[in-house]
Amino acid sequence: MASAGNLVASLRAECAGLEVRDRPEELIPYSFDGTAALQQLPVAVVFPRTTAEVSKILRWSSENKIAVVTRGSGTGLSGGSVPVAGGIVLCLTQMDKILEVDPANLTLRAESGVITSAITEAAEKAGLFYPPDPGSMKISTIGGNVAENSGGLRGLKYGVTRDYVMGLEVVLPGGEVIWTGNKCVKDVAGYTLRDLFIGSEGTLGVITQVLLKLIPPPAARKTMLAVYDDMEKAARTVSAIIAAKIIPCTLEFLDRVTIHCVEDYAKIGLPRDAEALLLMETDGHPSAVEAEASAMERIARENGARSLKIAASAAEAASLAAARRTAFSALARVGPTTILEDATVPRDRLPEMIRFIQDVSRRHRLKIGTFGHMGDGNLHPTFLTDEKNPEEMHRVEAAMKEIFHKAVELGGTITGEHGVGLAKKEFLETAVGQMNVEIMRRIKKAVDPDGLLNPGKIFDLS
Ligand SMILES: Cc1cc2nc3c(=O)[nH]c(=O)nc-3n(C[C@H](O)[C@H](O)[C@H](O)COP(=O)(O)OP(=O)(O)OC[C@H]3O[C@@H](n4cnc5c(N)ncnc54)[C@H](O)[C@@H]3O)c2cc1C
Repeated sequence: MASAGNLVASLRAECAGLEVRDRPEELIPYSFDGTAALQQLPVAVVFPRTTAEVSKILRWSSENKIAVVTRGSGTGLSGGSVPVAGGIVLCLTQMDKILEVDPANLTLRAESGVITSAITEAAEKAGLFYPPDPGSMKISTIGGNVAENSGGLRGLKYGVTRDYVMGLEVVLPGGEVIWTGNKCVKDVAGYTLRDLFIGSEGTLGVITQVLLKLIPPPAARKTMLAVYDDMEKAARTVSAIIAAKIIPCTLEFLDRVTIHCVEDYAKIGLPRDAEALLLMETDGHPSAVEAEASAMERIARENGARSLKIAASAAEAASLAAARRTAFSALARVGPTTILEDATVPRDRLPEMIRFIQDVSRRHRLKIGTFGHMGDGNLHPTFLTDEKNPEEMHRVEAAMKEIFHKAVELGGTITGEHGVGLAKKEFLETAVGQMNVEIMRRIKKAVDPDGLLNPGKIFDLS
């Protein structure tokens, strides 16, 4: 297909009645995601409303060898939905219907453009609980969550998105539509193809529907915030809680830089002289919650918490949690460019990793705020920088490289939840090894032989 004009005319002819945008000013919002310093204009953006329309578009792309980048809300933090040159964006935000809540089987079926918090609310309305709660849940789509296998603040006890996906409707690169999975609690008929698409970052198929597992909600919940003069004491508290065989639903931390930024932004009354805050939450049966909360309080104090506040009401719990939930937005106000990473290590290596990040920040003269899912070993070292300053960006790149290599050296990984996309592609082989990447390539070639779905993401084909 010779020119962009021809391509758009052909797409419009194929998708009569669908919204297709191609004016430069319309394309700009779809040229980047939540990742700093990555941008590429697509040729057009198309908004399908049904699976049949997605299928039609993928058949067209296959016949004309046009690259397709699937997009939910574009909140990704590894460049996954950044368009590729000469390709189109398939934006699923108009596929936004919750199709069924099934209390007898504890499932919910939805189109993939539904906003994550709408899933949570629909489950709550039925007296049920959908636990994955990424920080972006008020904006991100459920399809994006599945494609990235997103985590959240409750991951420690409840797991991540993958743990709640029972089935998927997927449109394959040639336009074929498959269902993988069902409402059965057990099913071992052949390969679990569903798992292949979870976390595949839009490189293997377009997820058009999701069938999610719901669970009964916890009857009680207790939230507390512990204050520390020393980050290592907070890390030791986390290790001691886990070693005491308590699995809280939330164990999140903020370092000093983040505490200051959150306080400047949200004015919650956080202690500015603290080195670390630990947000802890336990939920479940009321008597278990009481016992766990008092054990967690004791362990926090034994490990050096300077003070500890237990929320007396749901409103107070929400206000304590706000300190953590606003961390990214608060940090993002500080510099023109915010680069949020998600190096992850086994929990017992956390103190070492945190010390290393602090050392990297000093040596490279960079401002790094660190917060994250301490109970999961999932840290978010966040660079507050300016992409227009090439010298500083050079130092940021060197610092990031050191952090990723250290995470792998400690038995960890380069990404706990944000995916590889474009941003971490060069580190994938270090993290998983050459043969694993080779197997990923073979799978990609088998499912998408022409390499049209989100090409160049996660790894290169050759
Ligand atoms: C403030 C903020 C907080 C965040 N907090 C968290 C957090 O706590 N935990 C976490 O894990 N992440 C977090 N993220 C990252 C991001 O929100 C998640 O990765 C989210 O799942 C992306 O959803 P999206 O709809 O925006 O997807 P996009 O950004 O649009 O897409 C992400 C990737 O998925 C692919 N994709 C999207 N939809 C589909 C589909 N239907 N079928 C196939 N592929 C698809 C895209 O091609 C791309 O590769 C945060 C981001 C921000 C900005």
